[in-house]
Amino acid sequence: MAAIPATPPRRVCAPACGASGKAGGFLALDWCDSTPSLSALARASFALHRRLAASLDGAAAYGYRPVHTLSICVPSDDPRPGSPPHPLLPGWVDPAASAAPPRVLGTPETTAQVHPGLFTKAVLAASGAEVVVGEVERVVVRDDGRVAGVAVKGRDGVVDADAVVLALGPWSGRLEVVREVCHVSGIKAHSIVLWPREPEKITPHALFLSYQPAPGAKMLDPEVYPRPTGEVYICGMSKDEDAPDDPATITGERDSIAMLHKIAGRVSSHLKTEEGAEVVAEQACYLPCTTDGLPIIGEMPGVKGCYIATGHSCWGILNAPATGAALAELILDGKAKTVDLEAFSPARFLKRRSRR
Ligand SMILES: Cc1cc2nc3c(=O)[nH]c(=O)nc-3n(C[C@H](O)[C@H](O)[C@H](O)COP(=O)(O)OP(=O)(O)OC[C@H]3O[C@@H](n4cnc5c(N)ncnc54)[C@H](O)[C@@H]3O)c2cc1C
Repeated sequence: MAAIPATPPRRVCAPACGASGKAGGFLALDWCDSTPSLSALARASFALHRRLAASLDGAAAYGYRPVHTLSICVPSDDPRPGSPPHPLLPGWVDPAASAAPPRVLGTPETTAQVHPGLFTKAVLAASGAEVVVGEVERVVVRDDGRVAGVAVKGRDGVVDADAVVLALGPWSGRLEVVREVCHVSGIKAHSIVLWPREPEKITPHALFLSYQPAPGAKMLDPEVYPRPTGEVYICGMSKDEDAPDDPATITGERDSIAMLHKIAGRVSSHLKTEEGAEVVAEQACYLPCTTDGLPIIGEMPGVKGCYIATGHSCWGILNAPATGAALAELILDGKAKTVDLEAFSPARFLKRRSRR
């Protein structure tokens, strides 16, 4: 393979520079059960995460661990000191952070987590793949309709390939071969990573919050994920917005980051910067979304050997393993066994268009 260009062109960056590095990394066995096709993908992925963690030493390599998961309604007004602690609330969560009794959403049997960036890099390293950083400008197709490879910005000729898999997240629609078939949009979401005061007190509890900053204001639903490294990740504050061309230019908006800090401080004094917590990161990234809410996984209609895997929205870390396994089976054996990919086929968009 040719040498890596000295200065990578725009719109590309190191693996896991986007959502796959900045996500929460929360995994759930049965939270997609209301949609049968997604349920199969999620359940297969949850099991594969466990197997991958066993074979790649995921606990040490990328923070894989089962977690307790709670739902907490954070009060809008200033917390009243002296509230008695609820037995379900872990000790590091301030008793007054929950306006109502917390609800159990998941147990260590049904919910888990990974550090998404470390997970992505660990799986990539284990694959033995050679990584070339560059911006794919187009998919090159032979006269007989079979893929020939990809044209990469700043490089002469075509990078030959028997099979091309387009996993471009919210940038998927920038390539014509995808744009002609389906629409992939972006949702910008923010996150902060904190080094808490007394990290040894933070237990493996994922928290799904509901919080109304003021009467009549939009309800917010941030999420809090303590990590085995001691860091605590908090995300939320999303809005519809297409990703900019260059991932390196994505930054968090000041108000959204400030709101996440405010919420973190309401949940736990361990997470208040005024009380000793330190800021590790303040960032944003984009969820890749589709028009029907289902991911797009399969062969692109009309281009034999060109595949796509995108549109996983808020479940791309969970659903990555079964997506990868099923695509590999489709490419090598002509049929996916791990999960049925029919519902995720990109061809569904063309069928719907022809019915109209
Ligand atoms: C705040 C937040 C929290 C989340 N939390 C969770 C969670 O807890 N659990 C969960 O399961 N999911 C979560 N998600 C969702 C998950 O992060 C995404 O679904 C997933 O990471 C998408 O992966 P992807 O590979 O499709 O896209 P990305 O991770 O965005 O990767 C796309 C890559 O393609 C590259 N690229 C784009 N165009 C080109 C081109 N032309 N040539 C070459 N490269 C190109 C980009 O540089 C980028 O590296 C979260 C997402 C966000 C935003």
